[in-house]
Amino acid sequence: MPEAIPFARKRPVRHRVKRWFGILVDSTEDPAKYEDPADPVGFVVRLLDGRTVVASPFALEIVPLQEAHKEHLFALRLLYRGSRKPFSKKHRATRCDTCQADATLQQDLECAECGWRLCVCGSCGCGPRSDRIRAHRQRLEALGLPDPGFRESTANTHRLPNCWHCKVGLDSWVDVECAACHWLLCVCGACGCGYNRP
Ligand SMILES: [Zn+2]
Ligand SMILES: [Zn+2]
Ligand SMILES: [Zn+2]
Ligand SMILES: [Zn+2]
Repeated sequence: MPEAIPFARKRPVRHRVKRWFGILVDSTEDPAKYEDPADPVGFVVRLLDGRTVVASPFALEIVPLQEAHKEHLFALRLLYRGSRKPFSKKHRATRCDTCQADATLQQDLECAECGWRLCVCGSCGCGPRSDRIRAHRQRLEALGLPDPGFRESTANTHRLPNCWHCKVGLDSWVDVECAACHWLLCVCGACGCGYNRP
């Protein structure tokens, strides 16, 4: 019988037998939920598709960070170009979308594609963020403006505004902002540049 892994929130884990990959988020002491009735505890794992399962601590193995990063990009059907030692010492200021860990849990590796520090769960900035970064660039191009790029939100407080253009909800803990106007980038590509006050 394999050894039980120790409980460590936000760690990327894989089921030895069922092979699925997820993030260890919690534990339960409700025997009705255990994978094996003989388990001393159940480990609550969130899969990348959002489903939550309870697994035996004996059935799980911790996935190394670089491998977890690969799993994330694979799940998002995005290009995996590996990870590397960070070029900059700057940590990202936002909370992780995948595991909700805060910025202090970032690891000493960055994604070779997006340049974001890997979270302890293996996620990076690729995915929903890269979509809005692309949309932002295209929108500014359509407006005939230079692309100023984006950066981490500089808001000191947690802000949840709505996009002025498409009304979708934005989140300063998650979303990046336009480097020119400092408005959060929306999935529709809108920022404050080219905004006409009604
Ligand atoms: Zn994370
Ligand atoms: Zn990335
Ligand atoms: Zn929008
Ligand atoms: Zn802008």
